[in-house]
Amino acid sequence: AINLINVNKNFGKLRVLKCINLNIESGEIVSIIGPSGSGKSTLLRTIMKLEEIDEGIIKIKEEAIANVEEGIKVKIPKAVLSSSLKNLGMVFQNFNLFPHKTVMENIMEAPVMVKKMSKEESIGKAEELLDMVGLLDKKNSYPSELSGGQKQRVAIARALAMKPDILLFDKPTSALDPELVREVLQVIRKLAKESGKTMVIVTHEIAFAMDISSRVIFMDNGEIVEDSTPEKIKNTTNERVKAFLQNIT
Ligand code: ATP
Repeated sequence: AINLINVNKNFGKLRVLKCINLNIESGEIVSIIGPSGSGKSTLLRTIMKLEEIDEGIIKIKEEAIANVEEGIKVKIPKAVLSSSLKNLGMVFQNFNLFPHKTVMENIMEAPVMVKKMSKEESIGKAEELLDMVGLLDKKNSYPSELSGGQKQRVAIARALAMKPDILLFDKPTSALDPELVREVLQVIRKLAKESGKTMVIVTHEIAFAMDISSRVIFMDNGEIVEDSTPEKIKNTTNERVKAFLQNIT
């Protein structure tokens, strides 16, 4: 589970997250939607400890990874932090693959270096994952030889290679040409249906979010405005949410 308790985050004078309270249970598929600049990515990045918070508590599986009480930062032991963060896998908008490593090497890097998995085991695992994302034939290619959609599918395989219980997706299709969006969404859809993992997806693909999620969170201006089932969000009476959904369809 992921818990955010009274989380605030500022960039200079700008309050980007305003007293966010959010609990995500194990196995939930949660999409975060909302207008540009509303704080969606920042929220996700705080869970991954890629952004520090200014106030509040963030817990992963009951273990605090960030804790700031009345502006005073409570120190989290490094060992606790690294073992908590091992539960998380993240997929970024811009893929973040290592350009000088092959597809296989990209996927094997962390399991071998961090998890101390044997090379043989990691090769087997990487091939299995590449097969799952439909890219086994590209295993010896370099990222520069792949389309954006293929790169993102490799990035998903790489995140899965560490066997995280929780997958975080930060606008995984935003950098893709429209014709490549589908193949990436299909992989995410498959994971949502079959993997049993907890998934948190920040996306502008609203129809997709409504379709695969058990829960949709609408953010605006640093706040969670609505947190409900796709059905209820679609029939919302909240004017801000209504206006947003009308504009994008
Ligand atoms: P989008 O859908 O357009 O990607 P978002 O909802 O994900 O937007 P964030 O990326 O979380 O929004 O940004 C929230 C606000 O914080 C924006 O006003 C953005 O300009 C600002 N912001 C984000 N990152 C930084 C940063 N590193 N330094 C300063 N301001 C930032």
